[in-house]
Amino acid sequence: MGRRKKIVQECERLMDEPENIRNIAIAAHVDHGKTTLSDNLLAGAGMISDETAGEQLAMDTEEDEQERGITIDAANVSMTHEYEDTNHLINLIDTPGHVDFGGDVTRAMRAVDGALVVVDAVEGAMPQTETVLRQALREGVKPTLFINKVDRLISELQEGPEEMQQRLLSVIHDVNELIRGMTQDMDDIDDWTVSVEEGTVGFGSALYKWGVSMPSMQRTGMDFGEIMDLERNDKRQELHERTPLSDVVLDMVCEHFPNPVDAQPMRIPRIWRGDDESDLAETMRLVDEDGEVVFMVTDIAMDPHAGEVASGRVFSGSLEKGQELYVSGTAGKNRVQSVGIYMGGEREEVDHVPAGNIAAVTGLRDAIAGSTVSSIEMTPFESIEHISEPVITKS
Ligand code: GDP
Repeated sequence: MGRRKKIVQECERLMDEPENIRNIAIAAHVDHGKTTLSDNLLAGAGMISDETAGEQLAMDTEEDEQERGITIDAANVSMTHEYEDTNHLINLIDTPGHVDFGGDVTRAMRAVDGALVVVDAVEGAMPQTETVLRQALREGVKPTLFINKVDRLISELQEGPEEMQQRLLSVIHDVNELIRGMTQDMDDIDDWTVSVEEGTVGFGSALYKWGVSMPSMQRTGMDFGEIMDLERNDKRQELHERTPLSDVVLDMVCEHFPNPVDAQPMRIPRIWRGDDESDLAETMRLVDEDGEVVFMVTDIAMDPHAGEVASGRVFSGSLEKGQELYVSGTAGKNRVQSVGIYMGGEREEVDHVPAGNIAAVTGLRDAIAGSTVSSIEMTPFESIEHISEPVITKS
């Protein structure tokens, strides 16, 4: 059996274990390294070869994206990662990094429970960092922070340990100030800020494929001094092998992002205004795969063979071929032609996609991004508002 087939089988197995699923987005200001980081994660999970990560830009599926070097369409990919002896299914949604595509970022946030916010260590938090944080928090999506391009502080700007520490702390401080400002009026008292000590902040270099966090440093025994020495002396391969970025980030994802069972009870009241005493509300809170089907479409993509593919989040029930489903705002029902998951830009058909997962569905001809698709007529999800952002130019 081919490697790809094995990965698909393992993903299918894990889809039925919502406790071990993490639905995440990576979001960043343009050029801060989101695509390079995504490729690292795919390579770490065995989806693309290690050597080509960062060059292949597997997440940039559209041709003009590769030419322009910016990510346009939110592409999805599923991968597996072993953390604390348990295999996890990580459904990653890549988000556009360019200001013009803010609407897609907001839609992607509806499908996920955690957002890895990437910030360039040299540039610090930028206007779009603020926008993606706002989009995440409004959807009840938990942020963590990855400070990227730390190699530049060490090798290019030749910063000493104290200077570097100050700079990293100031990035964290700025991000937390933004988060605090956005969560003041929230009803729940959850602390949404990020912290090095808690392990919700990682640092490193997506380009040279190394990364660290407080838990990873404790595990590997490496300290910042040693990391700086290796980076400065061009021993980046050694650095990558001893503290690979993908492990550090995927461990952080498994440890700190909520699984759908923990996330949905908190998120459903935020994004759905239907009767919270109803059976449907209960099945969504419980991520019950035996309940009615509830699927929220967050993106429609064109497939040259299959036509329109609707991707989004299954909040309840289980999507299967042949189901006749209501599409909010339209009359009649649509018949599901196929259900699948994304594997590095390609769609892989599977038998069913249960609650708590990201699915790719064909046959929903009336669906648009934002549609609620369900097996019974229901109050649709709240519409996904586009948060406008300050006009900035690419430097
Ligand atoms: P995106 O727009 O956020 O997806 O950013 P990309 O991943 O396309 O990266 C933008 C540019 O920054 C590219 O030229 C990358 O090679 C470079 N880059 C990404 N990560 C790093 C890093 O860790 N260190 C350095 N020095 N450059 C990086």
